[in-house]
This record gives sequence, structure tokens and C-alpha cells, in this order.
Amino acid sequence: MVYQANSNRYATMKYNRVGRSGLKLPAVSLGLWHNFGGVDNYENGRAMVRRAFDLGITHFDLANNYGPPGGSAEENFGRMLATDMKPYRDELIISTKAGYHMWNGPYGDWGSRKYLVSSLDQSLKRMGLDYVDIFYHHRPDPDTPLEETMAALDHIVRSGKALYAGISNYRPARAKEAIDILKGLGTPLLIHQPNYSMFDRWIEDGLQDVLEEGGVGSIVFSPLAQGLLTDKYIKGIPADSRAASKTGFLQESQVTAEKVDKIRRLNDLAADRGQTLAQMSLAWTLRGDRVTSVLIGASRVSQLDDNVGMLNRLDFSADELARIEDILKS
Ligand code: NDP
Repeated sequence: MVYQANSNRYATMKYNRVGRSGLKLPAVSLGLWHNFGGVDNYENGRAMVRRAFDLGITHFDLANNYGPPGGSAEENFGRMLATDMKPYRDELIISTKAGYHMWNGPYGDWGSRKYLVSSLDQSLKRMGLDYVDIFYHHRPDPDTPLEETMAALDHIVRSGKALYAGISNYRPARAKEAIDILKGLGTPLLIHQPNYSMFDRWIEDGLQDVLEEGGVGSIVFSPLAQGLLTDKYIKGIPADSRAASKTGFLQESQVTAEKVDKIRRLNDLAADRGQTLAQMSLAWTLRGDRVTSVLIGASRVSQLDDNVGMLNRLDFSADELARIEDILKS
């Protein structure tokens, strides 16, 4: 059936300005790392993309290597664009990245200008696009001069193949250098994409200050710690979960008794707030307005509905925040 987007799609989503740029992103964005590859059910992925857009999620995050196999998430998303989403292109923020291994030989990995420019050309072809909205360097490269990688981002933006530049997984000092170099080149860094959740809070130690000073936004990935920060693993490891999946990045060994104990207590606190644990975990990452968007993954449409429902209760009392700290420290 021809897809007709929900005419009410902008009624409830919140849109946050990205740093000191002119761009806004939805408080919730959808990533296509898992569940959209060649090994996955295409129609399930398609239903999630449609539902996300109907809920006001205007931002879809990809990377060259998402699948498996690498490249297949972009190919599948390209098909969805062609059949469903193309009429809405100007309402979408589509991002992709390069930085991890993509093809063999010396030009298919890390941070050279050669790799970044070639990889983006491949991504555009796979998605059937003339440009992406945000192009990221996916991870810092210890061997390529940062000037070269940043000049490649500047070149890509000037060539019109991306509208904005981003970096991902950069630690504070390197992020600061990147911000300064790009500023000097006249292509200000739009956004940083780090991981952030109740279980991994490294960005609070310096990175958030660097980004705020630089006027750079942040979109945080794995805000549910890949599904741990939901009620899913409280009673064991379900067969249809990421931890049980052969192609999932979350390992069964990461679902420890100590974590499950914390999850159970966080789940009780979420219930006291009238939320699911997934909703509370996402709202927590947005507390204090330091994060622009939470970048979620989903394996089914019902998870999107659950997660976007966090917008109904974003505030935290001092007491609730203190209880969360106690649980996390215990
Ligand atoms: P999350 O922490 O949001 O984990 C998503 C997974 O949690 C889902 O696939 C699902 O797993 C489970 N889940 C989601 N919602 C619910 C719910 N309401 N109830 C129960 N379980 C739920 O994020 P991801 O780790 O998937 O990362 C999100 C995105 O971030 C990626 O798609 C990608 O775009 C980006 N990313 C970027 C990286 C980078 O280096 N820049 C690295 C990693 C991710 P299940 O299969 O168990 O149902």
C-alpha cells in the first residue's frame, strides 16, 4: 500500500536545537545499526521507519557498515526511501558515517580523505540520495593527522554531498581539537555522537563541557545500553532479544546478576513515576538539557511507541535523581 504519512506527525514530538546551529533534531532519533540489515526482516524494518516518521521522528541514523552484511542497512533504507519516504525528503535528516572497516586494502578504514570521500560516494549510491544531511567521522584515527580528516569533512560539506559535519566516539581533548580545526576551515562542527546511558556516563567527565563551549550538539547512542535498561532482561534472556541473537552486539555475558539487580530496582522506580524503565532511561539522558537527541534502536514497532511515550514525563525530582544515583552506585 502507498505510504501516506500521519498528518498529525508534528503534534507531540519535541524538537531541540543542535548546539548553536540553525538545525533542530527530534528529542528521539532512530538508528538503523541493528534490525535493518540483509539478515533481518525487511518489512519489519520498513514498518518501523514508517511508524517512526508518523511519531514525528524526522532523523534516521545510518553508517556505511550497518547490516550485516555491511552496506545492507543503507541499501534497505534506500528501498524504503524510494517506495515510501522520497516525497518527504525535505522533512528528513539522514545521516551516515565512515570510520570503521568497510572494504579491504588500505583505503577502506579509519580516517583518510581517500576513505571518507569514497565511502560517502558509496553510501549515497546505496541509499539513492544526492546528499546526506549529516556526515560523521565514525571514530578517531590515531594515525591520520586530524587536519586531514577534518579537511575531508569540510570538503564533503562544500561539495554538497553532506549539509553538516559530525564526529563520533571522540574523547574530550580530540573533540576540542576537531572543533577548533573545523571552525578555522569555516565548516563548524554540528554534532558529536557518543554513547551515553545510566550504565556508561563517560561524557559527563569533560566532553559535555567541551561541546557546550564549542556550540556543538550531541546525539547519544545506545541510551538503553542496547536494551539492558528496559524490563526485558529482568526474568532472564528472551530468545528474541539482542543478547540472544547471533548477529547482536550485546553479549549474554554482559547481562550480569549485578546489572539485573540494578535494573530491577530502576524498574520499580520507573513504575513509581508512572513510566516504563525504557521511558525513564531515555528521559534521564535528556535531563538538564545537555543532550540534543537520544538515538534509539528498536526491533519492533511497539518499542517505538513505548520509547516515544517518554515525552509524557521528562522531568525528575531531586529525590528521584538521588534514588537513581544510589541504585547506580550500589
Ligand atoms: P539502544 O540502547 O536504544 O538499544 C536498542 C535495543 O534495545 C533495541 O534494538 C531492542 O533490542 C531494545 N529495546 C528498545 N526499546 C525497547 C523497549 N521499549 N523495551 C524493551 N526493549 C527495547 O540503542 P542501540 O544500541 O540500538 O543504538 C542506537 C543507534 O545508535 C544505532 O542504531 C546507531 O544508529 C547508533 N550507534 C552508533 C554507534 C557509533 O559508534 N556512533 C555505535 C552504536 C550505535 P531487542 O532486539 O533486544 O528487542
